[in-house]
Amino acid sequence: MSQAQLIDGKAYAAKLRGMVAEGVATYSGEVGTVPGLAVVLVGDDPASRVYVANKAKQTVEVGMASFEHRLAADVPQEELLALIHRLNADDAVDGILVQLPLPKPLDEMAIISAIDPDKDVDGLHVVSAGRLASGLPGLVSCTPLGCMMLIRDTLGKDLSGKAAVVIGRSILVGKPVAQLLLAANCTVTMAHSRTANLEEVVRRADIVVAAVGRPEMVKASWIKPGACVIDVGINRVPAAEEGKTKLVGDVDFAEVAEVSGSITPVPGGVGPMTIACLLHNTLQAARMRRGLAQDQRF
Ligand code: NDP
Repeated sequence: MSQAQLIDGKAYAAKLRGMVAEGVATYSGEVGTVPGLAVVLVGDDPASRVYVANKAKQTVEVGMASFEHRLAADVPQEELLALIHRLNADDAVDGILVQLPLPKPLDEMAIISAIDPDKDVDGLHVVSAGRLASGLPGLVSCTPLGCMMLIRDTLGKDLSGKAAVVIGRSILVGKPVAQLLLAANCTVTMAHSRTANLEEVVRRADIVVAAVGRPEMVKASWIKPGACVIDVGINRVPAAEEGKTKLVGDVDFAEVAEVSGSITPVPGGVGPMTIACLLHNTLQAARMRRGLAQDQRF
């Protein structure tokens, strides 16, 4: 029997989408238009197509405009850059998201760098990373933002003095999560593949964020009793039934839930927060670009 409080990311994401929809209605009353999100998909990777279709559907559901741009896998880099420049200049577009990964030989870094940082709703531009590290207002990448919302919803707004360990140091997840926890006055340790005594390091944490990509790596013996455990990992592994697969996180949910105070499941934890935070970021970008005060409810 699990002891831990289950952190329901699916329910929180639905609540967040509802708040964004209300924010969009207020915005359109103030500005006379709705925020717009442009999503660029290059190639026909089936998983990316599903993500992009979900993003477009949820964008429209909260009352925003959705602009989809589909390009062939062999699109020349200059053509993709020209599209980004057009979207930067288009006032109806408040957020630009380029679905990653891009097919080779496109240069992801060059493409992301071409996005206007004020429209960088994925938060991957170096200017967005710099603003986050410097404590300046800006757009924060969606999955890390989702992690923080779930942590605050579980532990309360004041995280001062808590010991946080982030396992993983990617630009997409680990680093921005660590920055956000630091900005919330946590004492943050970033762990990675070269960390010595990882289990011991993790055992000190009041908050553990696992963003590794290794199925069920984090075990109950690593966890301080009562800790809040956020599992970002999405790993597909063979299921008990032959020929089937299932999704698991980076945390061994069944055993860690016996020790931790709270825990996100996989699926249904951090995952659903990502698109909801993308919509949140698009609304924030629209308000920021027009010099409107940020929505204080978030
Ligand atoms: P990366 O592969 O970019 O980074 C993984 C990190 O884990 C690296 O910093 C690596 O360390 C570290 N690591 C690898 N092995 C170990 C180990 N044995 N011990 C400690 N640290 C280790 O992955 P991402 O950050 O992009 O993604 C992490 C996970 O989160 C994946 O499962 C991914 O699918 C999932 N994800 C989920 C999202 C969502 O919910 N919407 C969004 C994005 C990602 P080093 O730097 O030393 O190599």
